[in-house]
Amino acid sequence: MSDCLFCKIVAKEIPAEVVYESGRTLAFRDLNPQAPTHVLVIPKDHHADAAALADAGDDLAGEVLKSAQEVATIDGVSEDGYRIVFNTGAAAGQTVFHVHAHVLGGRGLTWPPG
Ligand code: AMP
Ligand code: ZN
Repeated sequence: MSDCLFCKIVAKEIPAEVVYESGRTLAFRDLNPQAPTHVLVIPKDHHADAAALADAGDDLAGEVLKSAQEVATIDGVSEDGYRIVFNTGAAAGQTVFHVHAHVLGGRGLTWPPG
């Protein structure tokens, strides 16, 4: 998708602070972090949201979750705990329609999030 922000990050047309990369995923720090660890994990191929990711097959959704786990280990939050969030649809706060898992950690995270 030529007009997609995150496709442009994959294509290196827009810079990002990459934390981790697997064959089919890329993880980079959120520009507006909400916690000490706030990393976005995306599939390199364009899928609009979590539902489309689930439909993509070939365990692509599993690879995104595996990369989220790697990010948590790299940032040292896997022992204390971290949160993985997929905002799905505008009403849930999704603003970039290239699916991304928010990996949040490094501070106390309340539940429910509000
Ligand atoms: P969402 O609201 O779930 O769609 O999340 C989109 C996230 O992308 C927000 O947390 C933004 O801060 C983040 N974001 C927007 N532009 C960039 C960018 N160029 N690099 C890194 N993160 C970004
Ligand atoms: Zn895209």
